[in-house]
Amino acid sequence: MKMNRISSFCILFFLGVFGAQSQSFKKLHENAILVDTHNDCLSSLTLEGKDIASKLTVGHSDLYRWKKGGLDVQFFSIWTDKTSRNKEGFYKDAVEEIDSLHHIILRNPDKMTFATTYREVKKRAHKGKLVSLIGVEGGHMIEEDMAKLDSLYSKGMKYLTLTWNNSTGWASSAMDETLNPDKLKQKGLTEFGKQIVRRMNELGIIVDLSHAGEQTFYDAIAETKKPVLLSHSSVWSICPVFRNVKDEQIKAVAKNGGVICINFYSGFISKEYDQRQSFLNNVVKDSVQRILLNESKGDSIIMKKKWAHFYDSSMNAIRPSLAQLVDHIDYIVKLVGDSYVGIGSDYDGVSSVPVGLEDVSTYPKITEELMRRGYSNRSIKKILGNNVLRVMKANFK
Ligand SMILES: [Zn+2]
Repeated sequence: MKMNRISSFCILFFLGVFGAQSQSFKKLHENAILVDTHNDCLSSLTLEGKDIASKLTVGHSDLYRWKKGGLDVQFFSIWTDKTSRNKEGFYKDAVEEIDSLHHIILRNPDKMTFATTYREVKKRAHKGKLVSLIGVEGGHMIEEDMAKLDSLYSKGMKYLTLTWNNSTGWASSAMDETLNPDKLKQKGLTEFGKQIVRRMNELGIIVDLSHAGEQTFYDAIAETKKPVLLSHSSVWSICPVFRNVKDEQIKAVAKNGGVICINFYSGFISKEYDQRQSFLNNVVKDSVQRILLNESKGDSIIMKKKWAHFYDSSMNAIRPSLAQLVDHIDYIVKLVGDSYVGIGSDYDGVSSVPVGLEDVSTYPKITEELMRRGYSNRSIKKILGNNVLRVMKANFK
């Protein structure tokens, strides 16, 4: 078929426009300061002895892929479970993980740099090294002891997530407030919990309210004099799971001047993903496992492998899209504006991420999608990092 002059002009025009866009999103991504407020690779490194300085084929993170993804600033999450790894307790677990981050930075001085002040972050970001900050995920690691809060601060802690899934004696978690309310001794922050928030303000530690129960959230936001962070939380109205944040909470964060950093976990992004997961675990697991055990002639190891394969392929089939993740960003922007949302991937802390966001090399795709949706360069830069930088500036000494 012969093309007339007008149609060839149109094709060239569109190629030009889209070609320019594909270039400009890369340029914009390169120019922006990208901050991710939550990555759990440190606990998996400590537990499994992986080296992020080498190209890893497992997990979400290593120094090569971070570079490719254009990441400038990473909050490394210090995490330990409800039961401590060390017999000395949770605090010791935290100190060990912090030490392991320092060792990694010392071994990779050309690729990483540590920061504790806002000035250091601003000065060092975007100079080719990953600026590394410490976020402690769970108030249980201070073991109800204010001196240990001070001590973790002196070791570089820049945010403390008041609770992980487990409540402390002074703060109730989202998991317990929602799923185990009868087991709670108290809901929200105790007087000691409020003292901790005040001390965090004095020291310059950001109050992180991801994982916090709603009562703890509102108590903390009433107590703090500084902007808060939700280091890895998504939107409840899109995906109503216990740990996502409701519209009134989003409005409260905006009023406080804080930032909600979107968690990439498939089960926090897509309602369907979460529902299928509950269906597989709570409804069909027993009967399917019985059938598989029969097929495996009673060998429970073979049965478990078959179940894992069945489960993974079933869940993989409905992983959310990158666009669905950006819908969470869009939702917050439409509700309260573009100053209160950021990126808190939870890479290496989650078992499934949206299609297209497989690891830390894929952040530019978010920039591309935001640009495709008509976001201005200024807005995109705020979402990628400037909003979180504002919260750091208001909190850090
Ligand atoms: Zn978490």
